[in-house]
Amino acid sequence: MNINKNYDNLEQSYLFSTIAKKVNEYITKNPDKKVIRLGIGDVTLPLCKAVISSLHNAVDEMAEQSTFRGYGPEQGYDFLRTAVREYYNSHNVDLELDEIFISDGAKSDLGNILDLFAKDNTVLVPDPVYPVYVDTNVMAGREVKFIDANGENEFLPLPNRDVKADIIYICSPNNPTGAVYNREQLKEWVDYALLNKAIILFDSAYECFISDESLPRSIYEIEGAKDCAIEFCSLSKTAGFTGTRCGYTIVPKSLDKLNKMWLRRQTTKFNGVPYIVQRAAEAVFTEEGQREIQENIRYYKENAKLISDTLNECGIWHVGGKHSPYIWLKCPNNMKSWEFFDYLLEKGQIVGTPGAGFGKNGEGYFRLTSFGSKENTIEAMERFKTLFK
Ligand SMILES: *Cc1c(COP(=O)(O)O)cnc(C)c1O
Repeated sequence: MNINKNYDNLEQSYLFSTIAKKVNEYITKNPDKKVIRLGIGDVTLPLCKAVISSLHNAVDEMAEQSTFRGYGPEQGYDFLRTAVREYYNSHNVDLELDEIFISDGAKSDLGNILDLFAKDNTVLVPDPVYPVYVDTNVMAGREVKFIDANGENEFLPLPNRDVKADIIYICSPNNPTGAVYNREQLKEWVDYALLNKAIILFDSAYECFISDESLPRSIYEIEGAKDCAIEFCSLSKTAGFTGTRCGYTIVPKSLDKLNKMWLRRQTTKFNGVPYIVQRAAEAVFTEEGQREIQENIRYYKENAKLISDTLNECGIWHVGGKHSPYIWLKCPNNMKSWEFFDYLLEKGQIVGTPGAGFGKNGEGYFRLTSFGSKENTIEAMERFKTLFK
């Protein structure tokens, strides 16, 4: 038996464990101080009413022989795929039902999709980055190239025609930076992918945070994208499903064999998302569900605006916070990421996430999130002003 040696090439990430350790040490030494966490990468508001009611009904159906459900279709029930299709339709993207695959979240499908690609593909990943893209490719033994996202390009790198890539990852609105591509910029990526016969793996997990109609929520709003892109979306951040688990992946039929291959892969290795969860997800796409999730998103975005406004008052450079729950700031006084982490914890009792943990270009930057409570965000920003204004 030979093990997969590629796992030895994974970089150990100590980011969140180091943060937890530092915060615990601080709290033990200063039990009287109130520490505010603005590093939370998970939603905090509960599931909305429409979802809960739909969940309850589905549970009751499972209790009756006449409405009980066993195995469902691996690619998801038609009632949910239809709801997803109508949702896309509402922002002018036409999909066929068999281009939509219901998943248990974006992370698993972002990893699983790599089953479809040969090992000898060059992968292009922006730096800083959501670590899943890199690690899943390292596990498969693929070469990963990085493209620099930095202050100069406002953390929205554009393709370099001299660099050849086969698989390209794009996340917009971005985690960790909160930056969002506009149509012209995404078009450049689509044109580049078409020219290189490359595939774009587009992560739209934060699309619901976009409130400007002119910004694309799906890559398929860009002409040509159906010939070069697979899209991954999730109800995790948009509807609070991080613990409930449901998402959807779009594999257009115009992508040569990939749609059939993905269906084959899913029917072989996956047995579908629980019926009750799919009913819960269906409720997200109703009028009531959409209104309720938008209320929650508005709550987070008000926090984000408060953070962004405070940073402006303090003259601190940042991106994100507008169409995203994340704010990505340049550490004041040229501090390094961890230096700023320690400073903010010691002087302001505020916890955030050092940008250096997301890649080399993250050094000197810092991520704050809006998933905390309004009260805590207000208090943290008062402290921020005392420190930096
Ligand atoms: C949170 C997040 C996801 C969603 O993952 P799920 O598995 O659906 O919970 C996907 N991509 C990014 C960049 C994320 O931050």
